[in-house]
Amino acid sequence: MPIQVLSEKVISQIAAGEVVERPASVVKELVENALDAGAQQIGVEVTGGGTRLIRITDDGCGIPAGEVATAFSRHATSKISSLDDLQTIATMGFRGEALPSIAAVAEVEIATRIENEAAGITLTLEDGVVANRRSEGRARGTTVTVRNLFRKIPARLKFLKSTATESSRIANVVSQYALCFPEVGFTLTVDGRTELRTAGNGNLIDSIIEVYGQEIARNMIAVGSMAADWQSSPDAIRISGMVGAPQVSRAGRNYLSFFVNRRWVNSRILAFAVEEAYHGLLMTGKHPVAVVNIELPPAELDVNIHPAKSEVKFRDEHAVFAAVQRAVRRTLVAEAPVARIEEVTAAYSAPANEQGVLTPVPARNRHFELPEPVPLIASLPVLRVLGQARNCYIVAEGPDGVYLIDQHAAHERVLFDQIKAQRSAKRVEVQGLLEPATFEVSPRQAEELRRRLGELLEFGFALEAFGERTYLVRAVPAVLKDRDWQGMLRELLDGGLRQSRSEENIIATIACHAAVRAGQALSDEEMHGLVRQLEQSPNPHTCPHGRPTLIHLSAAQLEREFGRA
Ligand code: ADP
Ligand code: MG
Repeated sequence: MPIQVLSEKVISQIAAGEVVERPASVVKELVENALDAGAQQIGVEVTGGGTRLIRITDDGCGIPAGEVATAFSRHATSKISSLDDLQTIATMGFRGEALPSIAAVAEVEIATRIENEAAGITLTLEDGVVANRRSEGRARGTTVTVRNLFRKIPARLKFLKSTATESSRIANVVSQYALCFPEVGFTLTVDGRTELRTAGNGNLIDSIIEVYGQEIARNMIAVGSMAADWQSSPDAIRISGMVGAPQVSRAGRNYLSFFVNRRWVNSRILAFAVEEAYHGLLMTGKHPVAVVNIELPPAELDVNIHPAKSEVKFRDEHAVFAAVQRAVRRTLVAEAPVARIEEVTAAYSAPANEQGVLTPVPARNRHFELPEPVPLIASLPVLRVLGQARNCYIVAEGPDGVYLIDQHAAHERVLFDQIKAQRSAKRVEVQGLLEPATFEVSPRQAEELRRRLGELLEFGFALEAFGERTYLVRAVPAVLKDRDWQGMLRELLDGGLRQSRSEENIIATIACHAAVRAGQALSDEEMHGLVRQLEQSPNPHTCPHGRPTLIHLSAAQLEREFGRA
């Protein structure tokens, strides 16, 4: 074939592939246009997973009759006129690609009217060209109808998933915008059924109720509500939104939403920042629920890096990471059911002032080191031990009510902190055995043990090979004296290095095997000692696996329960 310039039609179909990957991308682009037009109500109607019909109706500003056809030319936009405008972009669209791209791969009809034109105009496009044009009355706003998406491009159609999957992707897009724009009323109808309807009253919590349901909504905490003061600087990265209390965690990461300057974005780094903020509060394998708004000066952001505009680039990624992680952590700490907050220290350069209040992170601050979790320092009040229940729980009393402490979980926490401190000071307490003990391993365990001998030595295990599958044990970590250290070693060796935080994993395994068991009767003195140590822990209300160490029944709660309030 000789070299030839592709026809305009083929060029626009190729270009469309970037923007219109699937029905949900059409919905995304059209909803964004409606939002850019200042709509207060946006209706989304789809059938057949969006391949048969997608119709978006808005009450925004509309398009002047004389400009509608132009809107379907490639790179036609009313939102920017020069490259400089991109620096301060406030709209979601700016490339002028969506309408022509959609018209290149589907049949499109657009009906629109602006405030001061008497009648509206309706245009029908086929293969991207205007096929019909008529004047028609309608309310202010725009309706775009997209039929038979990809019908002429079988390769694209084949690429789509089931109708149900495509519909749920569409529902996700609409839900995300409903969360991002609580002041806009969204309605989503799928195959004639109303799937979502938000009030558009401006309250995020009301959108959360509609999108995630009452159960999750009840447990959402407003981010930053406790700390309005530290978000007031104009240069600051502002974080708002709502995050789930640790007990509403989910098995997947689909419940994390990020909006950067009111643009819905996918971001692994932001997801990681939120997950780090929950470190130690969620059980392994569980993920938080969060709706996080990030606002920062537009110059800190490049929005023009992704074909579907669903990723952005931060000029200072560390600063954003730190701000998100800290705001979420702070919110969780402030709301932790048991904790009394004494201080929250920042792991970053922005120093806490005398009152322990965090100062804003200026967007231009570049002193950030590698992001690290902000430590949670929230100790317990002094508790008075009352007794033991079921040989399992310590019952204690504090200034505000009664505490039930899980003796095993609490001891695990105490030992974990202790070993960790010893480890980082390189002063692990070791217990030499009077007689060396033998420890037999399976071939698999032997392999693992050989690899980890050095690491185990640093924790206090002195092991030496004694034949092929037997080791001589001369010393163990002091906390495991008279405990089942064999069981601990086996668990560790069988678990392998699957866990990413290898060192914490060893510490947690040691702590678990060294801790008192449930069902073990404790003397008053032992209970006392344990509670005193737990009070000292910087993270007293969860065990290293994230399970709670204690339950607090506040005085108010007791009064309520007993009808005294
Ligand atoms: P972009 O959004 O990048 O400008 P689009 O192809 O999505 O490009 O839209 C082209 C232009 O059409 C927009 O700049 C806007 O002026 C107009 N437009 C599209 N949809 C709407 C709408 N729902 N309401 C008002 N104007 C619209
Ligand atoms: Mg657009």
